[in-house]
Amino acid sequence: MAVAANLGFPRIGARRNLKWALEGYWKGAVDPEELQATAADLRRRHWLLQKSLGIEHIPSNDFSLYDHVLDAATLIGAVPKRFGWASETVGRAVYFAMARGAGDIAPLDMTKWFDTNYHCLTPEFEPGMKYRLASTKPIDQFREAASLGIHTRPVLLGPLSLARLGRCKAKLKPWTLIERWLPIYEEVLWRLAHAGADWVQIDEPALALDLPPEALSVLESACARLSAASDRIRVCLTTYFGGLAENLPAVLKMPVAAVHLDVVRAPEQLDVALNALPQGTMLSLGVVDGRNVWRTDLDGALTLLERAAARFGSDRLLIAPSCSLLHCPMDLDDEPSLDAELKGWMAFAHQKLKEVAILVRGINEGRSAVADSLAASRKALADRANSPRLHNPAVRRRLAMIDADMLRRRSPYPQRRELQRRRFSLPLLPTTTIGSFPQTLEVRKARAAFKHGHWSVDRYETFCRSEIERSVRFQEEIDLDVLVHGEIERADMVEYFGEQLDGFAFTHNGWVQSFGTRCVKPPVIFGDVSRPQPISVRWSQYAQSLTPRPMKAMLTGPITILQWSFVRNDQSRRDTAMQLALVVRDEATDLEAAGIGMIQIDEPGLREGLPLRHDAWSDYLTWAVDAFRLASSGVRDETQIHTHMCYAEFHDILESIAALDADVLSIEAARSNMELLGAFSQFRYPNDIGPGVYDIHSARVPEIEEIIGRLRKAMQTIPVEQLWVNPDCGLKTRGWPEVQASLRNMAEAAKSLRRTMGR
Ligand code: GLN
Ligand code: ZN
Repeated sequence: MAVAANLGFPRIGARRNLKWALEGYWKGAVDPEELQATAADLRRRHWLLQKSLGIEHIPSNDFSLYDHVLDAATLIGAVPKRFGWASETVGRAVYFAMARGAGDIAPLDMTKWFDTNYHCLTPEFEPGMKYRLASTKPIDQFREAASLGIHTRPVLLGPLSLARLGRCKAKLKPWTLIERWLPIYEEVLWRLAHAGADWVQIDEPALALDLPPEALSVLESACARLSAASDRIRVCLTTYFGGLAENLPAVLKMPVAAVHLDVVRAPEQLDVALNALPQGTMLSLGVVDGRNVWRTDLDGALTLLERAAARFGSDRLLIAPSCSLLHCPMDLDDEPSLDAELKGWMAFAHQKLKEVAILVRGINEGRSAVADSLAASRKALADRANSPRLHNPAVRRRLAMIDADMLRRRSPYPQRRELQRRRFSLPLLPTTTIGSFPQTLEVRKARAAFKHGHWSVDRYETFCRSEIERSVRFQEEIDLDVLVHGEIERADMVEYFGEQLDGFAFTHNGWVQSFGTRCVKPPVIFGDVSRPQPISVRWSQYAQSLTPRPMKAMLTGPITILQWSFVRNDQSRRDTAMQLALVVRDEATDLEAAGIGMIQIDEPGLREGLPLRHDAWSDYLTWAVDAFRLASSGVRDETQIHTHMCYAEFHDILESIAALDADVLSIEAARSNMELLGAFSQFRYPNDIGPGVYDIHSARVPEIEEIIGRLRKAMQTIPVEQLWVNPDCGLKTRGWPEVQASLRNMAEAAKSLRRTMGR
């Protein structure tokens, strides 16, 4: 009999219960017992739910108070010295200090969890660390479930992925550490077996990355030791987020009881598995997409599973979502405002587990046992495919007409530069900001009042206008060269545009954890995207009317909208990106027609879109760059296009960033004290660039001298004629007092440098 399995369940709670409890706890308003009670209640509810849906391999230890990678680091006692940890186990204080910092002690860095929008902490491995079992969480939570009558399959982050996600101080090689961690893993398995566990899930998503050859041999010996840790416990080696490519045959032969493959992202893996899976190994097939919100094509999934069952017999089959459901909203039935038609096409975590259960029945009892469900799935799929809401012939026509000319500005950068210099006559080292100003409580309250109908349109517009005017006057007063309106009208840079576009839907409770207690509610792009009317033009136009200085308008770029949304799975990401690009292009040309001379198209999502495997990068970068160029090339040469990216690590995609051909690029640089500029010593960035001169992630006000120092550093690698002066990123999370002081110092620093240079 095939078995229904789940790899992980969303842990934040249907009403973000964990978020509120944690934030209350950090503020001292919630005591530790209350926090534990909330967490335990969520675990209990989620286990019971999974059981009621027919899942047999129910995960435990997938729950985390903050982050599962942090949990894995604390499990093995990888606590850096600066946290002053001296006890037997890692207590809550040290745990949260690693997550969030404590006073002067910096937290662990954050890094992206593979290609998802979830951010995990970066474990630090220091020389001399004494690895030992420092947390009993996996065993405790297994027992906790057992006491509720629920038998679970504990999940552990595998040693290979832990090593890969972590950072080594000094000359330690991460792979060589694994050897030292294995006794701890063995002990955990042994203890779990003792507590009654018969399976353990070892997650190794790192197998979907490019790996050095020795990684596989390290993994093989790890698997051998883990499988031998207890004869009562079996290991399911779990891979997801992509195909294993050339590593797949070796992974299938690992000495484990079962191997899980993501056959949503990489269906071609099935054939390899059918041929190469050794006799004694079970196959877990991830056939329900854990990364998206669409209903599964149950017919298609069943056909695939039937092939596996025909080859191996259903006894060797586990059926599961492709990956943990952490990246999915929880329950579609909890969406009062989505219309019935859309809902008919979708599935959240809850619904996806139902699908798993249906597929298991389909395999175990035959198609006829689930005929109704199959028919419903077929109908939903057909309805979706044929819905007029999906297809917009005008969008299709425009898409088909995109030609090379639409992907480039009229003249090359040097010519545009001259025209723009004449038009704007900016000083050397022009000063500007990234777009947003503080979203104060007052601003957020006003927006909420408007959204809930307590404020009239007029009242809200008047409020926004006065906020815009206030920030324009402030920028004039401190004498910035290029102004912004402050983005006061938008809560979120993707949602704001999505809400005004056709082809987008928004959920009410569709929260997905981003990191710690931070959750996002990604928009759903379900159909062809179009723009019924201009979106942001009147705000920029109003702001420009207040000042003779150039007003820079702010748009969110096509790749960032794509990356931060749930996207349709019935066409390529490229096609969706191109549709989004057309919309941004139209908005940009409308801004231009309204007299706006500078337009910033933000692309903080560009780098995160990079595929996990290097050999897929160039394809992605080609269409991503095309999408940006399509969005930005509708304007005249005299119109200055800016773009902004938040991250500092783009050494490896510098050429693509240059290929965007934005007139001005602003990037995060201050946090790493201009380290990224190293990349520019080898690669001569052709256009203007504003490396951030101060970090906006804290309230600290930078000194004038400090900013001058950074600018001087930047001038060593970038000709001063190309340099702009701006903060690292938008200022929406900051308060006005520090923003005023910081920007004043920034403007002063630029002036003082100009003076010393006699310009
Ligand atoms: N223009 C946006 C802002 O200033 C950019 C935000 C971002 O880079 N994430 O907030
Ligand atoms: Zn940014």
